[in-house]
Amino acid sequence: MDLEFLELTERQARFIISGTAPAFVNSIRRSVIADVQSMSIDDVNFYNNTSVLFDEMLALRLGLIPLTGGEHYVSQSECSCDGEGCFQCQVSLTLNVQGPATVYSRDLTSADTEVVPADGNIPIIKLFKGQELLLEAIARKGSSKNHAKFQSSIATSYKYLPKFSINECNGCKECVEACPKHIIQYKNRSVHVIDELQCTLCNLCVEACDARAITVTGDPQSFVFYTESDGSMSCKDLLLTSVESLMKTASELAEFLGTFA
Ligand code: SF4
Ligand code: SF4
Ligand SMILES: [Zn+2]
Repeated sequence: MDLEFLELTERQARFIISGTAPAFVNSIRRSVIADVQSMSIDDVNFYNNTSVLFDEMLALRLGLIPLTGGEHYVSQSECSCDGEGCFQCQVSLTLNVQGPATVYSRDLTSADTEVVPADGNIPIIKLFKGQELLLEAIARKGSSKNHAKFQSSIATSYKYLPKFSINECNGCKECVEACPKHIIQYKNRSVHVIDELQCTLCNLCVEACDARAITVTGDPQSFVFYTESDGSMSCKDLLLTSVESLMKTASELAEFLGTFA
């Protein structure tokens, strides 16, 4: 199996994984989505809310704000406090704003300087003169198996690596017009694909070519994998954590099967 990273930043990762099967790549995708835990606001105590939104709507908005850090916290179900809530499984964030003002995620004050909104400029609500918001939000650790707000990855997907075969053609340029990604060019009396990785394998260029001069297929053993982080952790940590989880599951399965040997 080969791995070639095309891009790895804090928020985005794209790589080609070759010599493997779709099931394996899909297991990475599922693990990135569901096995990685992060902190999210899970409970909100409202002390004063004279804004135009109900408590429940504000609580939903607060829950969807990505929070950084929290590696050393455990989920409430795994904590020794038996669900009571303690410094090992929850963090308190307070919000106290009087209108007129637009309330942003940066207005949340966290008891743990590492567990803070990943982006400070997420608008929560606009308060008019005389309106007030005073609340305590409790952040806990969880995975998207429990709620989508704990999902750190967004737009996680993979596709077959596109492969092109272009024979001599009549130069009608129909394929150039048909490609929605604008990656086909007709130059020097021949057809060229300028950025193969952008191809979505839609086959519109193939259908447009009456001369049957162009074919596009997906390599069944090579895939382009893409994921984005919501900012709660780096893409590197996201991928490492998911792969560790897969390895743990695989070794548990091997151990289980070993009992039948
Ligand atoms: S398969 Fe679709 S995206 Fe790919 S080159 Fe052809 S028209 Fe463009
Ligand atoms: S549509 Fe076919 S024949 Fe026309 S330029 Fe494209 S590859 Fe050549
Ligand atoms: Zn606890």
